[in-house]
Amino acid sequence: MSTLAEEISDLAVRAGAPDADLTILAEGNAAVLDAANDRFLVKASGVVMGEATAEDWVWVSLSKSIEILDDANKNGRSPKLDSALDAILKSAVTPGGVSKKASIETLVHVVAFHLLESTWSLHTHPTPVVSLAASVKAAEHYSGTVFPDESVICGPIPLYLPYDEPGLSLGLGFYKGAIKYKEEYGMNPRQIILGNHGLCTFGNGKEEALATTQIAVKAARIRLGALAAGGINFIPNTAAQTIAFRPDEIARRALLTGDK
Ligand SMILES: [Zn+2]
Repeated sequence: MSTLAEEISDLAVRAGAPDADLTILAEGNAAVLDAANDRFLVKASGVVMGEATAEDWVWVSLSKSIEILDDANKNGRSPKLDSALDAILKSAVTPGGVSKKASIETLVHVVAFHLLESTWSLHTHPTPVVSLAASVKAAEHYSGTVFPDESVICGPIPLYLPYDEPGLSLGLGFYKGAIKYKEEYGMNPRQIILGNHGLCTFGNGKEEALATTQIAVKAARIRLGALAAGGINFIPNTAAQTIAFRPDEIARRALLTGDK
């Protein structure tokens, strides 16, 4: 049986393959939850996804990370909380016990584990998604879904968040955005678009997290094609929700995403 560090390295190498065009250099990151031990593995800062191996991942405390998010959500960002986050990121250790700093984008994954009922979380910078997320009408381009598999795999309504500086600001904006989305729609977002930045997808297996990213990238290309062909005609939101919650489509999602 593979260790979690080996499993997540496999995910990173596939997500970081040059052909996938999801990340280059040290872009992007991923994380996996070890709920029984109140911790998660996340990419160490500066690691190239496509070359990741087991010692490129570090353990971080889940409850300590949640404390920071909750404090920031209640009291706002402060230099004290920035330092507390920095201390947590610096206290991370690899499975082999070597100290390495965790990714600056770690809090995004904390939200996935704490709020979105996921155990796997993948964050990348796919060119078609960032093209849309860097456009003047980014929020409008992500106000709906464009083909049935996007509704089923990536959820019927994307969550678009405006740009935030990596670190506590990004984590806090992500947390607030996910809370608001859940209140508004009564479900978890399955694709989160970060303005001028990238894409976040989740799952309860690495295949689900990766397949959701792949469909989101295809959906981004379709948006770009539709814009070039005169404009996007979204699937009406009610129809997108109907298809996303049909039992046969939920079963199909499980098959498509490939986790056993
Ligand atoms: Zn990023």
